[in-house]
Amino acid sequence: MPRILDWFGAGSRPQDVQLALMRAQHAAFSRQVPLLYLILAVDAIACAYTFAGKAPWSLSALAPALLVAGCAVRIAIWLHRRRQAPDDSTLRRRLIAMTGMTFLFAVLFVVWVIALYDYGDAAMRGQLVGAFGVTTIICIYCLMQFPQTALLLAAVCVPTVSVFLMRSGSEPMMAFAAALCAVTFGLVYMTMRTARDFADMIEAQVETQRLNEQNDRLAHIDSLTGLPNRRRFFEALDAAVAARRDDERIYVGLLDLDGFKPVNDVFGHVVGDRVLVECGARFSAAVRGKAFVARLGGDEFGLILEGARSETDAIALAERICETTREPFAFDDAIATISTTIGLAACPDSGEAPAHLYERADFALYFAKQHNRGRPLLFNAEHERRMKGAAHVEQSLRRADLDAEMDLVFQPLHDAETGEIVSFEALARWNSPDLGQIAPDRFVPIAERSDIIYPLTRALLRKALTAASAWPSDIQLSFNLSARDLMSPAAVAQIVAIVESGPIAAKRVDFEITETALVTDFDRARAAIVALKSTGASMSLDDFGTGYSSLNYVHRLPLDRIKIDRSFVREMEGSAVARDIVKTMIAMARNLQFDCVIEGVETREQLALLKSFGCNMAQGYLFSRPLSRDEAAAFIYARRALAPSTSRRLA
Ligand code: C2E
Ligand code: CA
Ligand code: CA
Repeated sequence: MPRILDWFGAGSRPQDVQLALMRAQHAAFSRQVPLLYLILAVDAIACAYTFAGKAPWSLSALAPALLVAGCAVRIAIWLHRRRQAPDDSTLRRRLIAMTGMTFLFAVLFVVWVIALYDYGDAAMRGQLVGAFGVTTIICIYCLMQFPQTALLLAAVCVPTVSVFLMRSGSEPMMAFAAALCAVTFGLVYMTMRTARDFADMIEAQVETQRLNEQNDRLAHIDSLTGLPNRRRFFEALDAAVAARRDDERIYVGLLDLDGFKPVNDVFGHVVGDRVLVECGARFSAAVRGKAFVARLGGDEFGLILEGARSETDAIALAERICETTREPFAFDDAIATISTTIGLAACPDSGEAPAHLYERADFALYFAKQHNRGRPLLFNAEHERRMKGAAHVEQSLRRADLDAEMDLVFQPLHDAETGEIVSFEALARWNSPDLGQIAPDRFVPIAERSDIIYPLTRALLRKALTAASAWPSDIQLSFNLSARDLMSPAAVAQIVAIVESGPIAAKRVDFEITETALVTDFDRARAAIVALKSTGASMSLDDFGTGYSSLNYVHRLPLDRIKIDRSFVREMEGSAVARDIVKTMIAMARNLQFDCVIEGVETREQLALLKSFGCNMAQGYLFSRPLSRDEAAAFIYARRALAPSTSRRLA
């Protein structure tokens, strides 16, 4: 093929440029070729008219009639082709055929003109060669973008007729031949230049388009993993939803890596990046080309599955993806263990708008993160009900008068050995005029997902400090902070200000934080902890053991206390493994010089066992349920009066 294109004046250019040039030449030629044949036909008719009766019938009527008929057929063919979009090989065939046709018509025309010449008088001969010269020049002009064919046409027509005229002995004809040669030479030169400029222009266009496509591709690719990026994901989702047939389902998945942040913090960003790249590769391999996988940012990936036969198939594919991350990620001197949780939403079952589906998949992911970590979860009617409920709670929360509607109850933390009250933990309660009593497990996560958590924390902290001011000065206030509070330096500064200007000494305040904050952004969490501790307050790590923080990770933080989650206490009775875990956690916490609180102690047996493991503080229904402010004050004074016997009883 390059050789043929060489012949068309594009051989030295890259192949895509050659093809683009060929298409452009074809487009230009499609427009001009009917005109070219029309001129030829009109000239043939004009000459036939002049020579009618003077030349034999075969030359003055038959030959021009055939020539005109041939032109008419070619015009019809090219007009018919105008609306077609031929493929590359058809184009190539057409251009070669067109060159052949040009050659054939040129030869026929020349032969006819020379044959006719002898039958005319001087004026008729003048008209004949004049018409011939003008036709040739116009045809060459029409072939400007097609230089080799123009050259072929000039080579067939001009030298033969010029030599013929030179030999005719007529001076005007010799002069005309010389003029025709000169004009043709000039025109051929211009044609070559125009053709080169035309090819240059096409090459520039192709290059621009290539750059555009490259830009476009880069704008749609995640540079780290090489997967499609967030923008591409939403485009693909829009396209999939738009193209969905009525009987078809599309599944949208959001994938989140569990425990990725600690990997980043402990092993560094280089290893973190390698884990992400490896995850991208594992996910792509797991879907085996049957689904679209993209990286949406951070440790979040997206999935679009079209044409799944059933829900079971879709979940099986998602399971396969989760399965891929169960295998640890081993690098030179690091082994990272993570898992993948997936939230799925089906179209049309959970909605038909892409944004709606994304929101549902996100809710399923959020729900799975809490209840179904490391597994896929498909959004269902129960989730829809919860989501609507959460939206309702959020609206009421936005409208709530926090000072009036929020209340606190207080649950004591005891010294496990003496039974003395060490602290009271403030636990939020919401009396909503619309919704009634709402537990913190319901409204705190909703407040955390919106910005309401900041004013909520401040309102609760003020109330808690006021309540604590009524207690003896050796009793602490344990106050729960949200991960969101710690992630905002402005919120931390406001909390510090409230504590510093509060009614009790800051050293009596113990902040409880969960490891969610630590795994979201370790450095920020550490800065927040340092700022809060600068007031003199102490710091506890709450719900320990439920997430991803290991003690060696936690010892890098200036913590004072670790609260082992109540779920361990519950499991301890039936399970020797749970007992061993609790024992180990307590031993490690004590080794690191942390106070160790066990939450959720409900029986004396539990307490006895925990004490034998070395636990030095305990909290739970065995000691007291959460109490109102007045009850808490009464509880303290009643306990203080009974202190010796109570501590004996509890021990
Ligand atoms: P948490 O900080 O782990 O609080 C302890 C929860 O365990 C409390 O539930 C408490 O009533 C319950 N509990 C205490 N002893 C026992 C026991 O022996 N057995 C059982 N089964 N449960 C026990 P509550 O008050 O519903 O609080 C739930 C969660 O809401 C808290 O868990 C905390 O994470 C959050 N929360 C509560 N108040 C606040 C607050 O003011 N701010 C923030 N950010 N979160 C809060
Ligand atoms: Ca707590
Ligand atoms: Ca807790």
